[in-house]
Amino acid sequence: MTIMTSPTASATSSLLPLYKRAPMELVRGEGVTLIDADGNTYLDFTSGIGVNALGYADPGLRDALHQAADGLVHVSNLFRSASGEDLADRLVALSFADKVFFCNSGAEANEGAFKFARRWARALGGPAKHEIIALRGAFHGRLFASLAATDRPAYRAPFRPLAGGVTIAERSLTDLDAVLNSETTAALILEPVQAEGGVRVLDTHLLKELRAMTCERRIALIFDEIQCGLGRTGHLFAHERVDVYPDILTLAKPLAGGLPMGAVLMSDDIAASMQPGDHGTTFGGGPFVARVALYALERLSDPALLKEVRENGFWLRLRLQQLAERTGRVRAIRGIGYIWGLDVYEPAADVIARARDVGLLLVSAGEHTIRLLPPLVASRDDLDAGLQRLELALG
Ligand code: PLP
Repeated sequence: MTIMTSPTASATSSLLPLYKRAPMELVRGEGVTLIDADGNTYLDFTSGIGVNALGYADPGLRDALHQAADGLVHVSNLFRSASGEDLADRLVALSFADKVFFCNSGAEANEGAFKFARRWARALGGPAKHEIIALRGAFHGRLFASLAATDRPAYRAPFRPLAGGVTIAERSLTDLDAVLNSETTAALILEPVQAEGGVRVLDTHLLKELRAMTCERRIALIFDEIQCGLGRTGHLFAHERVDVYPDILTLAKPLAGGLPMGAVLMSDDIAASMQPGDHGTTFGGGPFVARVALYALERLSDPALLKEVRENGFWLRLRLQQLAERTGRVRAIRGIGYIWGLDVYEPAADVIARARDVGLLLVSAGEHTIRLLPPLVASRDDLDAGLQRLELALG
């Protein structure tokens, strides 16, 4: 097979240098394997940061892309789009939700969710209702309101003032009880599995109590499942595992098989407070992306795939614990399904660089946490091969 080569982006690249990119250029993929311009192969345990759930060169996804390309790419939201409507119907059929808004990224989905929640809370509780509460360790995006709900001082400090009316609270019931008691609180947003913040599976009891409190106090509960949703935990939605349902759910990452798409799912109650013109976006839910997303959703909601992720997730926990004991290089392991965080003593970046050298791609989730996010189609053999390389990288 011919390997395509093109120049690697260098320090003189015209791209704004916002990312510490790995040096190689990835040009092809097959299943769970990525191949660089020099022909080196890597097992991908990043999935393009939780996006490429179906791995690479998936024949079904390729067909869906081709079929979508035979139709219109974009019409704008001035007109109806059958695939956008079908996709919304499908998401509603698969979830607690009654209505769906489409956008183009995770941060944009959360920004939309904040607006919907505030509109609803004000309609219900009067003009003072506006405050959005997020949790310690949260990551909700890099735009002004989603950044205000993101607990990363280094991301926030250079860009102050951030959007007002957003507070970060401790992940304890006592603290949350106090902030949720405020007359001004409109919404609580949380990730059922905090991903960027170190891979923390939130406690079921905490989630149940927060649901009860927010119901009682008429506060919108928003679940950000941009990273932990759509199959990553072995359930289509992470909250299904704990049987706790939000008023609003945000999705993105794997939703459209690698094309940019975000979605805000909500109950009729929330939807009823929004009027035409209250919110919008040019590209959201266009025919091309929605058509591909319909295919991706069908695959991600397949019970056989979800069962495999759940079962392999249990196996992964065991294997990671053994690996931690053998190497003595891992302080803690957290995760579920196909999302795992390993706290290491040394900088995570050092382990990630060594893993790359032995053909394994990893991503961090904090200074000292490496994160495993294999494609959901990774078999046990793929996972096993990745863990062997991880052990080599840990040394
Ligand atoms: N929310 C969560 C939980 C995420 O993990 C991310 C991205 O990593 C976002 C929001 C932001 O999504 P995007 O980068 O598409 O704006």
